[in-house]
Amino acid sequence: MVGAESRTVFAGTVGAAPLGKLRLKRREETAMRLGMVIDLKKCVGCRSCSVACKVENVTPPGIFWNDVIQREWGTFPNVRRVYLPRPCMHCDDPLCMSVCPSGATQQRADGIVTVDNEICIGCRACVVACPYEARYFYGQAKTYFPQGPTPLEERGYQKHKVGTVEKCTFCAERVDKGLEPACVVTCLVKARYFGDLDDPNSEVAQLITHRFGFQLHPDSGCNPKVFYLPP
Ligand code: SF4
Ligand code: SF4
Repeated sequence: MVGAESRTVFAGTVGAAPLGKLRLKRREETAMRLGMVIDLKKCVGCRSCSVACKVENVTPPGIFWNDVIQREWGTFPNVRRVYLPRPCMHCDDPLCMSVCPSGATQQRADGIVTVDNEICIGCRACVVACPYEARYFYGQAKTYFPQGPTPLEERGYQKHKVGTVEKCTFCAERVDKGLEPACVVTCLVKARYFGDLDDPNSEVAQLITHRFGFQLHPDSGCNPKVFYLPP
């Protein structure tokens, strides 16, 4: 279901930042800096998180705010398959925001990066700038079924606007109600964790410190707030 294999975002080296260099910086002006940890050792590639994301956010066909990318490493007979869930990284220094000419892309005080589709002009500069291919242009209204939209689609697609760019929001509407993102609560092996990176006692900070959490492409200059635990 997910066009993962054809995407190239993770071609090349997936860099692991040395522990001491992980920038768990404290954002003085806010109470927290939200981030996610994904345990690649636990992930079994079931894509329940992708389905949960689709149901929660009712994303149109071809748009996957939470992709799961499948890669194989090694040569026969020593081959391993690894699944790499890829939400938006909600970067500390998001390139998508710095190139956005309209101001549609913003960063909340808790670090969640948002897109206002009433302001977005669909120029797609952010799609090109994002090093993680986390953004999607919604170019044409489509439904999953030839007979027309289901009641869920009819309701859910009202939040999407043709001609604009969209992406994972860390389920900001759930977060604002004190809930975790849908992918986190759905993951059947509990491979995903969500919390405050600035709190050294939080589960996410502890996992990053003790399990050698790393960022994808740490040289991107974006300082992603999604960390991975090694497979
Ligand atoms: Fe991996 Fe959990 Fe997503 Fe399944 S739901 S693909 S185990 S992260
Ligand atoms: Fe922006 Fe891409 Fe970073 Fe998400 S992953 S905040 S879309 S640069």
